[in-house]
Amino acid sequence: MTAAGEILVIDDDTDICEFISATAEARGLRCTATTEAPAFFEALTPDTSLIMLDLMMPQMDGIELLRKLGQQQCKVGIVLISGIGKRIMETAQELAQAHGLSTVGQLQKPFRIAELEEVFDRNTQPVAAPAHRPQASRPQARPIVEDGELRAAIERDQFVLYYQPQIDIATGSVVGVEALVRWQHPERGLIFPDDFIGRLEGLGLIDRLGWIVANRGLVEIGRFADRSGILPMLSINVSVASLDDLTFPDTMAALIASHGIPPEKVVLEITESCLIQNLKRTLDVLTRLRMKRVQLSIDDFGTGYSMMQQLRNIPATELKIDRSFVIDMHNSDSSRVMVQKTIEIGHELGMKVVAEGVETMEQLDFLRSNGCDIGQGYLFSRPLPATELVHWLEKRRSGHHVIA
Ligand code: C2E
Ligand code: CA
Ligand code: CA
Repeated sequence: MTAAGEILVIDDDTDICEFISATAEARGLRCTATTEAPAFFEALTPDTSLIMLDLMMPQMDGIELLRKLGQQQCKVGIVLISGIGKRIMETAQELAQAHGLSTVGQLQKPFRIAELEEVFDRNTQPVAAPAHRPQASRPQARPIVEDGELRAAIERDQFVLYYQPQIDIATGSVVGVEALVRWQHPERGLIFPDDFIGRLEGLGLIDRLGWIVANRGLVEIGRFADRSGILPMLSINVSVASLDDLTFPDTMAALIASHGIPPEKVVLEITESCLIQNLKRTLDVLTRLRMKRVQLSIDDFGTGYSMMQQLRNIPATELKIDRSFVIDMHNSDSSRVMVQKTIEIGHELGMKVVAEGVETMEQLDFLRSNGCDIGQGYLFSRPLPATELVHWLEKRRSGHHVIA
């Protein structure tokens, strides 16, 4: 099992606890070490990704502990630690399996740091994940941070924006960038939005993040202008919670104006499912935004239910085909049809159609032959920090590219 969660250790020997903790932390892994069973069970949370368990402890032996974990239907990988010979270890392993537990390693005391590191290598991945981790290999959204830490992150301004270019499929020129937020955690490295947006919504803090993102995007967009000073479009993801505020259009328009950016350069992306659920309430705000010439995009299109009929009533300027359809086009007729229909309907309603998740030339060719306007995806570039995007744009504009 690999996960970016926490390692939980139980060993009655405090020296071993410290040794394991220090080795884990040096590798960017989080670790809690306990010497007693009650503290161990208290520290066992959905965030625990690896258990390291000493089989021989005075208060409660490891065998008993395994039984309790089995009763709890624990699914976390377990590394068994023992100083009393291989036989016990093998028996414990069989028992663990009988309890439905998954043992993922063994450490025979005294063990070396290299052996411990090898166990970590096989069973964990540092929370400080590489910036360009592909979507598919991401761990599922899980509470990897405390609420207090999230609140503090807003106060301490720990959010950064990555930008992903959007390409005019017919001409190959860069027409816009989508701002995608990441949390630059001081110890855990880069945390992706799927791991905190929902939680911020739950805490009622998403609106604060929304303004931070809008402001930063409007500051940084100036860096992406071409030689003649033409700015790309700036797409920002907006949580539907922000649209509950009737003053949102005025505040947004004033913010955009304060940065000297024409409002028609800003696209607010709102997911289709959120729009459908809140259409009555948000229509007013959406219309006012359009009156102020801010552009509106329906994000993740195709994932919501029966949106096609209601599409006519929404004053959006852009339809963004959900990446799941684009990624599936090569092996699914229904995905191909969905993409074709979305392009058709979008154009019929006078909208621009954007395909996201474009990863291959085949996908691009299909989109081009069906008249899709804009492409976004790893084929062109992954989301990049502002400085890297500036370099990427320079290279692309000087003609050093082969795609589109
Ligand atoms: P989204 O708006 O649909 O953003 C596109 C996501 O697809 C991004 O993930 C991007 O990295 C990923 N992606 C781009 N190209 C490809 C590709 O070719 N293949 C694949 N497999 N994936 C690709 P990311 O950055 O993790 O964002 C996830 C979601 O978080 C976003 O989905 C958006 O709904 C939300 N989000 C991001 N930034 C913000 C923000 O500032 N505010 C709010 N409210 N939500 C945000
Ligand atoms: Ca989006
Ligand atoms: Ca999307």
